[in-house]
Amino acid sequence: MTALRTRPVRRTAAALTLLLAGLTFQPGAEAATAQPPAAPARDLGREVLADGDGWAADGPGTTGGSTADDAHVFTVRNRAQLVAALDGGSSVPKIIKIAGTIDANTDDRGRPLDCADYTTGGYGLKAYLAAYAPATWGGAKPTGPQEDARKASAARQAERVELLIGSNTTLVGLGRGAGIKGGSLQVRDADNVIVRNLELRDAYDCFPAWQPNTGGLGDWKTAYDTLWLRGATHVWVDHVTASDKGHPDDREPTYFGRNYLRHDGLLDITNGADLVTVSWSRFADHDKAMLIGNGDGVTTDRGKLRVTLHHNEFDSVVQRAPRVRFGQVHLYNNHYTVPADGEYRYSLGVSTESRIIAENNAFTTPGHVEVADLVKSWNGSLLQQRGTEFNGYPVDLVSIYNAYNSGSEQDLATDAGWTPALHGPIDTAARAAADVARAAGAGRIG
Ligand code: CA
Repeated sequence: MTALRTRPVRRTAAALTLLLAGLTFQPGAEAATAQPPAAPARDLGREVLADGDGWAADGPGTTGGSTADDAHVFTVRNRAQLVAALDGGSSVPKIIKIAGTIDANTDDRGRPLDCADYTTGGYGLKAYLAAYAPATWGGAKPTGPQEDARKASAARQAERVELLIGSNTTLVGLGRGAGIKGGSLQVRDADNVIVRNLELRDAYDCFPAWQPNTGGLGDWKTAYDTLWLRGATHVWVDHVTASDKGHPDDREPTYFGRNYLRHDGLLDITNGADLVTVSWSRFADHDKAMLIGNGDGVTTDRGKLRVTLHHNEFDSVVQRAPRVRFGQVHLYNNHYTVPADGEYRYSLGVSTESRIIAENNAFTTPGHVEVADLVKSWNGSLLQQRGTEFNGYPVDLVSIYNAYNSGSEQDLATDAGWTPALHGPIDTAARAAADVARAAGAGRIG
């Protein structure tokens, strides 16, 4: 869709090249003359979000760093080059092209860093577990030497892996196999950002924190979202693959009766973030994939968190695909795959004041997952849906959810109270699922 924007220019350039080469261009005569010059390689860095393609097209739209001058077009191959190009989150228009995989856990000379390299202050997992075992420590927030040492160690890792993207930036992968390993890309209070064609994997936290009061039983809190839009506006995420590849959480041990998670969200959208389009991306092999709105009490999110999700694949995701508070979220033509052997909780999380409109999404699940399992509500009151397919059959998510939970949960209403104006053609769920399988994720454009 977006390529169309630049194609006429390319055709003109190609015709001009033929004229300059002294060839007479005649329709139909190409075969008899020399080979026409190859089409110029597609430059993702100069592409912009198409008109009308989701919430990020609102107002001035999303153009990222497409207007960058030549001095602000970078090709980067390691963390140091990437950090230099990001320029401390500056808002100068810039295009950053990533070649190959960049490991965020490296020092300034490119040498790999592991958890031991970050550890300081006498932190040790055994000592930490001994200090805060619920049987002896109880339910208070951890304090003392081990927690101080954990925080100090975590700060050393954060300094390496958190990568700030400023306004007017386009970050794209070159061809196949381009991406970032172990990094947490963050757009904080910035506007007009494009992230495309990147494999983002394994934002691994070396130093999870124990939170005794989370969820009644306590839980491990991990620090890094693979991509975090915090207060960010006009953001287009496209053809990104985000996963825990390399370190699946289900292989981590259990401490204090809870899975010792190493990863936070794949793509979290919080704190007043607004006008976001996430398209043709893959979210895979992960627990909590996408949180839109991070607190019931964050009432400043009212009227914001407007997000469009289309043609994405959620594959082997345990929960939050997405979980929404406050946002007007348009969710269409996505495909969900639940594996037979993995953990699964739910896909669509309906939370405080969320106004989700879900159209023509497809779910492929094993036998033990029922339609009513696909939706979960916490303090949410509505979900508007149509065209949902469940293992090839049309289903009404809300009527089944309401029937299943009748008597135990409040019924979900079905009118979101708004009408999406910004979107491309909405296909049937089956057609979209086939398109997503063929074309979503990194390495499939450019
Ligand atoms: Ca998060």
